[in-house]
Amino acid sequence: MTDFAATRALFNLPDGIVYLDGNSLGPLPAAVPARVAHVMTAEWGTQLIGAWNAADWMGAPQRVGDRVGRLIGAPPGTTVMGDTLSIKLYQALAAALALVPDRHLVLSDSGNFPSDLYIAQGLMATLGPQYRLHVVDPEEVADAITGDVGVLMLTEVDYRTGRLHDIAALTKQAHAVGAVVICDLAHSAGAMAVDVVATDVDFAVGCTYKYLNGGPGAPAFIYVANRHVDVALPALSGWMGHVEPFAFEPHYRPGTGIERMRVGTPPILALAALDAALDVWDDVDLRDVRRRSIELSQAFIAGVEARCPDLVLASPRDPARRGSQVSFRHPHARAVMHALKARGVIGDVRAPDILRFGFTPLFLTDVDVTHAISVLCDVILHERWDPEGVGTGRVT
Ligand SMILES: *Cc1c(COP(=O)(O)O)cnc(C)c1O
Repeated sequence: MTDFAATRALFNLPDGIVYLDGNSLGPLPAAVPARVAHVMTAEWGTQLIGAWNAADWMGAPQRVGDRVGRLIGAPPGTTVMGDTLSIKLYQALAAALALVPDRHLVLSDSGNFPSDLYIAQGLMATLGPQYRLHVVDPEEVADAITGDVGVLMLTEVDYRTGRLHDIAALTKQAHAVGAVVICDLAHSAGAMAVDVVATDVDFAVGCTYKYLNGGPGAPAFIYVANRHVDVALPALSGWMGHVEPFAFEPHYRPGTGIERMRVGTPPILALAALDAALDVWDDVDLRDVRRRSIELSQAFIAGVEARCPDLVLASPRDPARRGSQVSFRHPHARAVMHALKARGVIGDVRAPDILRFGFTPLFLTDVDVTHAISVLCDVILHERWDPEGVGTGRVT
């Protein structure tokens, strides 16, 4: 059984706040600064370029990739770190389309994160006018899986509502018509027990700065199923994905296995931060995390609905159909969130009217949830928000 008091002690959380935004940027694990400092001074500062070999910086994307892989059910050698999620998605989609050259249709849904849709639009514009992106409502995905779909590209958890797709069932259906499946685990990895092998997806991608607490701009991951890992082409054929980067050959030859999905020089400092952050998961069972996340989020919904019935639940009520976040609608969502943050309860807002709260059992307690309910309901019931007070930052 996971000891959540022990995991909470592994984080540096500022006093006086309830952090319900670990689904957007995980907080700082206490061990990260010293690890990054060590890599800077003892490796970079002392070994200089020798650290690529001596500290095996060169192996970091795969080494850390295997650690992330363990959290998503991926066998060793099928997950690698690098770049950003948007870029890893580009590679996955290009590789997936190349596996089904006779098909030109990509199916996704309107609950997908805009960057995923934008990346698909950009890639398909490059590939040619025969390519088409079909975006349906999340509830209509199953019906839209027809024999002309080449790639089914879904994000498991809807960033606005938290609605959870049944990836295993949709993948089975897609495979039955010969389509390839990409699953974006941005809001799943570290939030629940993911099993990319059992769900049988062909590709999975995700970021590590949300539930995995890797820090702002932490490197992304890409998983390629064993059956494709020596076949799939990376699209972005950089030297770090070449079979022999230091042969400096004029022509690209893809690397062995998942190494081919590497692109350029890996972000060593960011990988060190992520590697230290992943230590937090060593004694954690993701099934416990999921169970606790459901307890906390159900308590939050029940408390909020009992005390401020004006807030409309935007998330599925059934926790089995929801990821690890709870969203409510409010016409002045930005102003309400601004007032909440001023009172130490930190969530975020997604346009146009979503108040979003993430539940991250590694560091959240029942007391936190009770406090967040009272602050939220106090702000709503007594209209303690200022319609003009929405903050000035570019990030919501
Ligand atoms: C957070 C998120 C992203 C962000 O992509 P970056 O390239 O890391 O900025 C993309 N897709 C989904 C589904 C996300 O949740």
